[in-house]
Amino acid sequence: MVTENPVASDTLFRGTPVVPGVAYAPALLVRTEVSPEAVARFDAGQYADHDAALAAYDAAADAVAEGFARKAASVSGDAAQVLTASAGLARDKGLRGAVRKQLRAGEDLLAAVHGGVDQFVAIFTGMGGLMAERVTDLLDIERRVLARLVGEPEPGVGTPEAPCVLVAEDLAPADTAGLDPALVLALVTERGGPTSHTAIIARQLSIPCVVGTAGATALTAGTMLLVDGVAGTVETDAVPEEAEARVAADVEQRAALAAWTGPGRTADGVPVKILANVADGPSARTSGEAPVQGVGLFRTELSFLNRKDEPSVEEQAGIYGEVLRPFGDDRYVVVRTLDAGSDKPVAFATLEGEENPALGVRGLRLSFGNPGLLDRQLDAIALAARETGTETWVMAPMVATVAEAADFADRVHARDLKAGVMVEVPSAALLAHRMLEVVDFMSIGTNDLTQYTMAADRMATDLAHLTDPWQPAVLQLIAITAEAGRQAHKPVGVCGEAAADPLLACVLVGMGVTSLSMAAAAVRPVGAQLARATFDRCEDAAEAALSASDPVAGRDAVRALLG
Ligand code: PEP
Ligand code: MG
Repeated sequence: MVTENPVASDTLFRGTPVVPGVAYAPALLVRTEVSPEAVARFDAGQYADHDAALAAYDAAADAVAEGFARKAASVSGDAAQVLTASAGLARDKGLRGAVRKQLRAGEDLLAAVHGGVDQFVAIFTGMGGLMAERVTDLLDIERRVLARLVGEPEPGVGTPEAPCVLVAEDLAPADTAGLDPALVLALVTERGGPTSHTAIIARQLSIPCVVGTAGATALTAGTMLLVDGVAGTVETDAVPEEAEARVAADVEQRAALAAWTGPGRTADGVPVKILANVADGPSARTSGEAPVQGVGLFRTELSFLNRKDEPSVEEQAGIYGEVLRPFGDDRYVVVRTLDAGSDKPVAFATLEGEENPALGVRGLRLSFGNPGLLDRQLDAIALAARETGTETWVMAPMVATVAEAADFADRVHARDLKAGVMVEVPSAALLAHRMLEVVDFMSIGTNDLTQYTMAADRMATDLAHLTDPWQPAVLQLIAITAEAGRQAHKPVGVCGEAAADPLLACVLVGMGVTSLSMAAAAVRPVGAQLARATFDRCEDAAEAALSASDPVAGRDAVRALLG
């Protein structure tokens, strides 16, 4: 694999940093495989017939699902959701059916489980995006079922006895959920990208994390590792006193970050709105407690992933009202219309059987053949805005042309709301100045903008160096958009994961971005980092990142500038 994050030396490993922080502790390698000896000892002939073998599968899958459910009950937030989804997948009827089919075809139980899972892996991989990301979960379930069938404990992360750095090829939800940050001081994975489960959970728990670290799993257990979640480095030969000093400085810095109370501005007082990304009422209520000036991205489609039929306008208005209400009449909420399709299939909206859903009818494109869907959602958003009194802006995902932006803006303005578009397709960035003639604001979705600029699936575990918003080509498109906003005197924000990276946040502000929207856990680190840099310094950082040859050089240059 060609990578821009090569193993810099035998003692210095480089990956993609996803959660800032420094840690120094011995490596704990995660056991992900069932022992070959136990598999070899397994007696496939112990079952009288297919039904007996299937019953053994049911018992094992049930026990695995129970384990996930127990863990889900002991954690909260994203971790609980991820574990509940894994429990559902372990009990999935389709998966059971695939195993039964293999048994009936004459396979022994272990081969049948493997064959059934393989079939599902192929389906999920074919769907791409978020579904492809679930392949890690499927393989994790297969290993756990296998372990139970051969009489071994389930593989994965045990409870560490002493502080450690967890090193793994990739971590499954069951491994990351419920991690104790007092014992797991950092996470290092060989695969996985900035939006992998590992990254999401590490961010929620504030555990320093580096993903896509080539060569990590070849490390020897117990080796002392110095992990830097800002630089994306893992050092094996750090001088202990120096490593401890870096950890102490990091602890001090993190305490300072936690004390930040807003509002967002640079060291010399240039205002930058710090906003939250939310999914539903509960996450809006939690985010409302953080020092944010509102919501920069409410992903409405996440409320409908399990719905067969389109909810009525009134029901939708109730759901949206739950998100608007915590922000009262002194903050504002940017609602994104349905971004269904591709990695977020919504039964009542998504088209079936597309060859390449990421480039297909997703986001605003769903309204081309079904304008009523968009109109009813806009009616519901307008109703919720009236009922709550909260200032409401509305934006469309996956906009590619000025005509699409104009049509969308007309519909939103007809309902007396502010209209904007997301910049996720490179064409929207290149034509930002013309888009801004018809809309009131733009919001850059760096997750998709990076995917479409670099032609790299945002969930691809082997392409972390390409799905990196620090790629100079991506930054160039952001700079074009921000400059267009500056000239039009209209707000241009960032609501993709890039806004949650404290160093990159300063770069974005230096380009002219006026708001940053992120998961609530990132608000304080980003706000505090920004408060330490003058606007001039942010402009210097932007120039350095834009002229860097690659993400590694960009990060190094900006870190040197911002300290
Ligand atoms: C993005 O693409 O950056 C974005 C914010 O939208 P989503 O992650 O929901 O696709
Ligand atoms: Mg997107």
